[in-house]
Amino acid sequence: MCGIFGVVLKGGRVAPLIHDGLKRLEYRGYDSVGFATLHSGTLQVRKDAGKIDEVVRSLRMDEMEGSIGIGHTRWATHGAPMMVNAHPHMDCDEKLAVIHNGVIENFMELKEELLNKGHNFRSRTDTEIIAHLIEEEMRGDIGFGEAVLTSLRRLEGSYAIAVISISDPGRIYCARYESPLVLGVSDKGTFCASDVPAMLPYTNQVVFLRNGEFASLDAEGFQIRRVQDGTPVQRELTEVTWSLEMAEKQGYPHFMLKEIYEQPSSLRGSLRLQRQYLDLLTAFLDRGEKLFLVAAGTSYHACIAASYMFSRLAKITTFPAISSEFIEQYGDSAAIDTVMLAVSQSGETYDTLKAIDHARMKAATVLGITNTVGSTLTRVSRAYIIQQSGPEIGVAATKTFTSQLMVLAQLALRLARTRGKLSQDEGDDFHDHLQMVPGYVEEVLKRHGEGIKALVEKYSRERLFVFLGRGISASTALEGRLKLLELTYVPSLAYPAGESKHGPISIVEEGVPVVFLCPRGDTRKEIVGSIMEMKARGARIISVCEEGDDDIIGLSDDVIEMPMGIPEALSSIPYVVPLQLFAYYLAVQKGLDPDKPRNLAKSVTVP
Ligand code: GLU
Repeated sequence: MCGIFGVVLKGGRVAPLIHDGLKRLEYRGYDSVGFATLHSGTLQVRKDAGKIDEVVRSLRMDEMEGSIGIGHTRWATHGAPMMVNAHPHMDCDEKLAVIHNGVIENFMELKEELLNKGHNFRSRTDTEIIAHLIEEEMRGDIGFGEAVLTSLRRLEGSYAIAVISISDPGRIYCARYESPLVLGVSDKGTFCASDVPAMLPYTNQVVFLRNGEFASLDAEGFQIRRVQDGTPVQRELTEVTWSLEMAEKQGYPHFMLKEIYEQPSSLRGSLRLQRQYLDLLTAFLDRGEKLFLVAAGTSYHACIAASYMFSRLAKITTFPAISSEFIEQYGDSAAIDTVMLAVSQSGETYDTLKAIDHARMKAATVLGITNTVGSTLTRVSRAYIIQQSGPEIGVAATKTFTSQLMVLAQLALRLARTRGKLSQDEGDDFHDHLQMVPGYVEEVLKRHGEGIKALVEKYSRERLFVFLGRGISASTALEGRLKLLELTYVPSLAYPAGESKHGPISIVEEGVPVVFLCPRGDTRKEIVGSIMEMKARGARIISVCEEGDDDIIGLSDDVIEMPMGIPEALSSIPYVVPLQLFAYYLAVQKGLDPDKPRNLAKSVTVP
């Protein structure tokens, strides 16, 4: 995720507008900034890693000449945040510049092909291949716009791009597939941007480009065509009535709700991991004798879920460990045969980094999963995976949790295949279900996005909640309870359902709401017994179960019905979504700010 912005003005300099536009996209997260403008037949590019205002000031980017230009705030996915990797990227001859938001999955193959044709690469990004592809196409006898269009047809993955070139100095070409792109027109000129706020001070007349569309912009307006076959597309302008603040959240009242709804797309991002890194992590995991999954907070819940996946699929034992406990609990036993897989959204979690230091001192192999390229975790890990969720602004983790699960599930599957622990059909079946997870989540949001509000209304005065699940659903219960605690401050408990009779059940009395996570699978039969136990104590049962599961439905006071066919090993991803919504709406009901829960910080970088 990042921000892209392009402007063609009828007159005047674009650089200050690009600066202003990128500032309005700042909420999307970024690590580097760059502008490219065209002026008097020359292409000018200035870029660096750092904060927008600081980079713009130190490189005097506001002073760049030209009435056409593009600007980018980068959220690195391929290549560390540093000057060479910042966008815009240029071709060998420095005649064109491209900015990109997304991930080009087949960039390795394309890069090899272009290297063989003599192209010189300066960066480690996936994006740079787009500049060279267009340059290569232009060696044939076609114009710049057509070269962009034909190059796009070779890309696999996600992109929103904008390109300018001295060979066509009055136009910006842009296109999107999966990453967002909006066009806007005003009496000053024409705009393209990742999101509406960038252009809102100049226009509220916009067109939301659709997947697989390509646009050519000049100072008077734009034309849209389909990437696939070049056919023109007619699209009416939409008038945006959002305030700037609403526009930043795409019309959602809070970032948290926006991020909950972003999950189908962030999960698709997390399915688009680079194969060689998955292979590398798998190889290290395969070599380990003792495997620890180390994390804090929500990421720890992802690790608990992962321990079930690794056992179920790859038949290996992994120990989930809380970062701040690792040294005391397992530190002395860590050794050269130990592999620590550390999971941290920010890659800067103090307790996790401390556990890593200890493990490294004991000659253990450290692997990482994080959402932040260039974070400390990426530097101290032997190998790491970027989970590709895009920046998360709400303090309570939502989309980054489900993405972590997605990455961990892919690792578990790969390890299972490497070790020959699944038959081909079993492996293929699990792989197919992984691809369907974003769709399941989409379905859950569609079904329950609104309905959860009524449930919240009904339970808004409760002073205690209990969350129970068996197997992997114990981790879903823990995460659902953590969301509720973080956002609403209502005391609540979460336990593996079978454990509840060893103590927690004493707290249950007439009317206490108990949320049961009951996907269909091996744990389903025993969970029915647990529900009965709780009912016998007068608990009110809220079940999250598969649609049509009449036994569970019959025992429940309220039911959240989930799509059919979700394998239990993947159930935590869709099943946590209604719990995220429940916590969110209850916080709103109580007049609390779900984006900024008290006493909490997004990234805990202190002891
Ligand atoms: N994949 C590109 C990079 O790492 C673009 C990332 C973004 O969307 O900012 O440079």
